Amino acid sequence: MLGSGILKGLAVTAKNFVGSYHNPARMVTQEYPDVQPQLPANYRNFPFLVTENATDPMGTMRCVACQICEKECPPQCIYIEKSKDKKPDANGKLQLYPAVFDIDTAVCMSCQLCVEVCPFDAIKMDHVFAIAATNRFSGLLLNREELAKPNTYFHEIRPDEAAEVDGRLAAERAAAEEKAKAAAAAKATAATATKPATGGAAAP
Ligand code: SF4
Ligand code: SF4
Repeated sequence: MLGSGILKGLAVTAKNFVGSYHNPARMVTQEYPDVQPQLPANYRNFPFLVTENATDPMGTMRCVACQICEKECPPQCIYIEKSKDKKPDANGKLQLYPAVFDIDTAVCMSCQLCVEVCPFDAIKMDHVFAIAATNRFSGLLLNREELAKPNTYFHEIRPDEAAEVDGRLAAERAAAEEKAKAAAAAKATAATATKPATGGAAAP
């Protein structure tokens, strides 16, 4: 019959229109910005820098300024300057740190390559997306203070990945401690073996 397709289409539309008033699962429209969206864990936009401690973010950044991410970033939107001095990282080991770490989010294409290449789990993809600004430079060029976010935040937005990273880092720390203990014990044994004996009988 001529027009039956149109009638079927209108029936589907009417069914969904009426159903959306009765079935919450059909109410897909979110009242943003009054209601903030619940983003899926794998959602990503721009990177952030992980710090171990929220109360001392600059003192506990995982980043050691190795600059691998800066070299690998396809649009070259990361800029890093290494520190002149070293300070203890989260494990107490002396490390360089980024004196400057900028990301130009106006250029970043959210490819996540910086995250993939970082050997220290120091940079991760964030969930923040509402970053509209009126100034292209001061608004979108993020510095290390703006990029630094604590590990607890990483757990909030990507709990599975954060737990996996924590477990792996804890295992690495435990292995490093065991190795250091074994090295100290071997050194102590060697020192005892080479120590000259005292109080022995005089030679005839
Ligand atoms: S997500 Fe991609 S484009 Fe953005 S800073 Fe990382 S490597 Fe560069
Ligand atoms: S974020 Fe990772 S790859 Fe980039 S400089 Fe820091 S430690 Fe190196």
